[in-house]
Amino acid sequence: MVKIDVPAVAALLGHPVAHSLSPAIFNFLAKALGREVLYQKFDVAPEELKRFVKALAPQQLFIGWNVTLPHKEKILTLCDRVSAEARAIGAANVVHFLRGESTAYNTDAFGIRQTLREHGVRLRGKQAVLYGAGGAARAVAYALGQEGAARVWVINRTPARGKALCRHFSRILPSTRFVFVEAALCVEGKVALIAQATPLGMKPGRARFDLPTAVDQKTLAFDLIYRPNLTPFLREARHRGTATVGGMDMLAWQAIATWEIWFGKVKNRQILKQKLSRALAKLW
Ligand code: NAP
Repeated sequence: MVKIDVPAVAALLGHPVAHSLSPAIFNFLAKALGREVLYQKFDVAPEELKRFVKALAPQQLFIGWNVTLPHKEKILTLCDRVSAEARAIGAANVVHFLRGESTAYNTDAFGIRQTLREHGVRLRGKQAVLYGAGGAARAVAYALGQEGAARVWVINRTPARGKALCRHFSRILPSTRFVFVEAALCVEGKVALIAQATPLGMKPGRARFDLPTAVDQKTLAFDLIYRPNLTPFLREARHRGTATVGGMDMLAWQAIATWEIWFGKVKNRQILKQKLSRALAKLW
């Protein structure tokens, strides 16, 4: 009998999806890990998402989906199960199909924790500043709470959204105080981390950030944006002598965590991550 290897089928759901790095990332991982994966991109408009999920999920065609803007919140309501982490964050970026059931996961928080650990940031009992209150910022808030930060100062263009984030995470992570402030000048005391989770700086143009006065050489500046790798936020932080990290490490780590949800643990994660980061750096 002829043995036919059927490739696993995975897909990205978003709107738009044209410039996503996900196909390149998962094709790289498939090659590196010796598995055949057929990876598709689907541009699904928000009003089409429910119909799309209801039509395709029951067909048992996919191992999983990556989910990106603007579907990260809505997808929670369309899956059979939601992981505790995705539920706490209020957003999912991964769906896994197993025995006809779909489960939504969030691997962004893992990507953030790994990035902080790789860069030697110890947050237990320390302070951090978080810019933004969208889906990515919520994953940062969750990761900072899990890492034991004593206080997280939150700055966001729309105060109501920033305050809502603080209320939510203060309730579910009571060991960390989440405090909304109108401006960086209101931040008191030393901070171990400043994390930038808005799209400001992705496009060329002027983007200005006010940094807390206490930011210094002992602070790590982390911008979740991965293109360009030196953002206005990181440039400004470097003027204060801080160490800086862009969003590429988080991107690589969340992809490896996604792969592990779909296919099981990989050996030598750290080496794989280094190889993936190098491959991503060559993409532009
Ligand atoms: P989102 O849910 O749309 O949230 C956007 C946030 O940025 C909101 O807090 C919004 O404030 C703020 N914002 C948007 N435009 C702004 C402007 N012109 N001035 C000031 N604030 C502004 O988006 P998201 O999913 O959280 O993504 C945020 C960033 O994280 C993106 O750049 C994305 O590429 C990056 N990201 C990176 C990774 C990675 O793996 N490295 C993963 C996920 C996301 P309002 O509340 O006032 O609207």
